[in-house]
Amino acid sequence: MPDTPQEKLEFTLTLYPEPVLRKQARPVAAFDEHLRATVDAMFERMRASQGVGLAAPQVGLNQRILVLNPSGEPQDDLALINVTILERSGPLTSFEEGCLSFPDIYAEVKRPQRCRIEAWTPQGERFEREFDGFTSRIVQHEYDHLEGVLLVDRMSPADKARHRAALAALVERYKARSLSGARK
Ligand code: ZN
Repeated sequence: MPDTPQEKLEFTLTLYPEPVLRKQARPVAAFDEHLRATVDAMFERMRASQGVGLAAPQVGLNQRILVLNPSGEPQDDLALINVTILERSGPLTSFEEGCLSFPDIYAEVKRPQRCRIEAWTPQGERFEREFDGFTSRIVQHEYDHLEGVLLVDRMSPADKARHRAALAALVERYKARSLSGARK
């Protein structure tokens, strides 16, 4: 029997203020080959963009899928499907965050140091895990994306003022793109 051809997906980044970034993402219903191809392509996009985490809305998909890798080592790849944060704990810590949907914009964000999650693997196995420090921060940042919450909502008024021009430029770019799309 001939091998089934592997589905190969390729994603581009969805940038602020694309509407999909503001939607609450929907649970994944089928743990099938298409989901695994989606996860693989998200890891590829994340790596190619030099990110440490990526949420499905950032590639235009309204689904509860996150990929992350805090170290860049292949064995640290982690995919979280239908993830829920069960508990956040520890002191609030401040850290300068970036986001692939906001190129070249960085802002200090305060988050609890630890979080405990429930999620499913791409193979459909449920698990619980606790994260601390940098990995906990990535998980909480990416989880925000599934709820339609963005870096711009988490930054201080001072950072927002500092990035006003860059944010306005992203909005202009989006408007120009939508207009050229509408003419097609
Ligand atoms: Zn982000």
